[in-house]
Amino acid sequence: MSYQVIARKWRPQKFEDVTGQEVLTRTLQNSIEHGRLHHAYLFSGARGVGKTTTARLVAKALNCHKATGPTPTPCAMTDATACASCREIAEGRSMDVLEIDAASNTGVDNVRDVIINSVAVAPARDRYKVFIIDEVHMLSGAAFNALLKTVEEPPPRVVFIMATTGAHKVPETISSRCQLFEFRTIATAKIAERLRVIADADKISISDEAIREIARAGDGSMRDAQSGFDQVISFAGEEIKTEDVEKALGIAGADVLARVISGIAENKPAEALAIVDDLVMRGHNLRNFCRDVLGHLRDLLVVKVSGDPKLLDSSSMPTAELQKQANLFSESDLVRFFHSLAETEASLKEAANPRYQVEVGLVKLMEMRRLASLADLIGRIAKLENALRAGKPPAERKTSQAAPASGSSKASTRSASASSSTTASAMVDEVSDSREALAPTSAFPLDQIKAALVKQKRRLLIAALDAARRAELTGDDFSIEFTSETRHYRDTLAKIDNLKALRETCSEVCGRDIGILFSIKDDEGEAPASSEEAEHRSKQSARQAAAQNPIVQQVLRAFGGEIVDVKAP
Ligand SMILES: [Zn+2]
Repeated sequence: MSYQVIARKWRPQKFEDVTGQEVLTRTLQNSIEHGRLHHAYLFSGARGVGKTTTARLVAKALNCHKATGPTPTPCAMTDATACASCREIAEGRSMDVLEIDAASNTGVDNVRDVIINSVAVAPARDRYKVFIIDEVHMLSGAAFNALLKTVEEPPPRVVFIMATTGAHKVPETISSRCQLFEFRTIATAKIAERLRVIADADKISISDEAIREIARAGDGSMRDAQSGFDQVISFAGEEIKTEDVEKALGIAGADVLARVISGIAENKPAEALAIVDDLVMRGHNLRNFCRDVLGHLRDLLVVKVSGDPKLLDSSSMPTAELQKQANLFSESDLVRFFHSLAETEASLKEAANPRYQVEVGLVKLMEMRRLASLADLIGRIAKLENALRAGKPPAERKTSQAAPASGSSKASTRSASASSSTTASAMVDEVSDSREALAPTSAFPLDQIKAALVKQKRRLLIAALDAARRAELTGDDFSIEFTSETRHYRDTLAKIDNLKALRETCSEVCGRDIGILFSIKDDEGEAPASSEEAEHRSKQSARQAAAQNPIVQQVLRAFGGEIVDVKAP
């Protein structure tokens, strides 16, 4: 016996067997059972999801000889006593059920020949004359016009079933006269279930994992999955391993995807070349590989954003594993990776040598984290250059060059330690009044910053902020002033980790990039105790003057720095 392709051999014989369209087939069965028939149906949905199969089942149901009227349970071909009508429809040779493939018969003449001229002729033997028009959106405008009249006023006992993968291309005049049924793409798990039934019946030994890989490659289409299964069987015979599936279908397995992800996480561009070489040696399709990685990145993003298992139906690995990989990246990282790889994938269409394209695309992906920080840095330098060239800070910055008056310093010291935000903003008002040039650009959010630090359990930072004699936001700078007695707090804050946490928290609270400026200043009027102390003081004031210089501030903010020493020219 010759080999019959799975899709044909296993074409559903009952409405219940149409995988993944349960609601839709039940609705159809009910309307058939209760005689609520429509004269025109439009089935829309992706390829291979059961549209034509369902159309044939409807035709069978309308004409089955086993009942005196339309029946929701027509004969199955496995049924030895199947009636002539059902048998002929299944074999595509029924006189009263005409199938037209609009993709190859787009012209108006075809529509006239096959439909218009025969529509008036009563059914030859059966109850209904059924026209199944596949890919109906491919018909020409003239053909649609010719069809319209018939669909508008169909003769009795004529039913049109139109199927399309492009419902939006079907003219409104036609679709508005049809009862619409939207076919869903089929969940991977459901496709896998069906493939398992087929494998068991045909005595094919295959693991669940391998079945899942085939189902996944079908991408929501039962027909594609089944023809994939055919390919795998002709490649590997009746003993199928996961590796065979990956080889036969040229798909990237979970292990390759994991390698790509760890390559990105660990910045290992060399790994990119090794992976592509592997794929080429194993004869994989590189474009499919890109799509697999894109799908995987999407899955990681889903895990990160929602974690809804329903959305992870076609993922290549267990959710726990996805979770582990997703934790390596931020949401925006994953979005950037996705966009970059999507560009690579799109460029493959016209690439003379796809291998190079994929290699470079993957290297780019694996260097992305490093490149991103570099790009960020270049941006900052460019901004700085512009500022230097203009000899002044960028226009949006309102920092004054004037040194703060000592009186207002005290006021802001109080504001720094004020606990309620209303008091704090009242203090800020007072400060602004007495010192217009240095007016903070917004209400001082110290309390919010502290609250955020409490959440991060950074109590040491809060203690240090509390110890400051002055802590205020001026323009884009958070200036924190200590006395020589409390300078160890400054040292604590200046530690790279702490400084980073403080900067990030401030920037987050203020909604913009905030720089941190430290200074040490003792009460004025206090006589220097020694010459050593005097020198210390003069250095201090030089540092302070430097800290007030807008260009210096710009540099500090651009590089997250701190003034350590000031040397006279
Ligand atoms: Zn029948």
